[in-house]
Amino acid sequence: MMIRTHKSHTIRKRIGRIFLPILFPRHCPVCGDLLPYGDKVCATCYRKLPFVRPPRCLKCGKPVLDASEEYCYDCKVFPKSFHGGCSLLLYNQLTQPAMVDYKYHNRRVLTDFYTEELLDRYLPFFRIWRPEAVIPVPVHEAKKKQRGYNQAELLSGSIADLLGIRHYPDLLVRRINTLPQKQFTPQARLNNLQKAFVIHPSFRDMAKKPARVLLVDDIYTTGATMEACTRVLHRFGIRQVYICTVCIGVSRE
Ligand SMILES: [Zn+2]
Ligand SMILES: [Zn+2]
Repeated sequence: MMIRTHKSHTIRKRIGRIFLPILFPRHCPVCGDLLPYGDKVCATCYRKLPFVRPPRCLKCGKPVLDASEEYCYDCKVFPKSFHGGCSLLLYNQLTQPAMVDYKYHNRRVLTDFYTEELLDRYLPFFRIWRPEAVIPVPVHEAKKKQRGYNQAELLSGSIADLLGIRHYPDLLVRRINTLPQKQFTPQARLNNLQKAFVIHPSFRDMAKKPARVLLVDDIYTTGATMEACTRVLHRFGIRQVYICTVCIGVSRE
């Protein structure tokens, strides 16, 4: 029987660090197949992924049926006060499993994949918008503690890094753990949501507020959450808010 000494334990740890990526290679977040080293999604799934393409809503970035449509149904029914928006993928049966996985299992590889793709596709937008800082849509502290992280914050941190601008992960705070809001009308949802977000007290006397910010979240559906956060940021004194999400739901139209 082998006696495990401190030395053999250290060697095993070292060997593990070298061989673990080979023994446990990465799997495609969409189909689960093994990935070639360095890849983040398999080539077959990449081709199938529903990337958002033009024509897009001039406000939120959601695809619209016809290029003559300036705004999507949701933006027409409930006009938004953010200045513009972009999203990487449509939220459907192909993208949903990876998003759920991302919410509950912190996967650095997905953060990198989503943010690099966002920048690849939307850098011209970011150049026009010129955000000075990136802010995540916050989750309630209890929820963050339970999951260990906020996926929107992983995304916003990575985007801030890639763009080389400030990241303010704590500027917005979610003070109410909101219940599922499906039973409310959109207007009631917005009112409820607006009460849920506040500026963190440590930022209230911020001397030099950014003029333009990029607000980041994982999923955009009707835009009620983004709109609620935008209104709080506007009231705080940030003049222009742009939004950016990984997935966007198709319009109800
Ligand atoms: Zn795949
Ligand atoms: Zn829209």
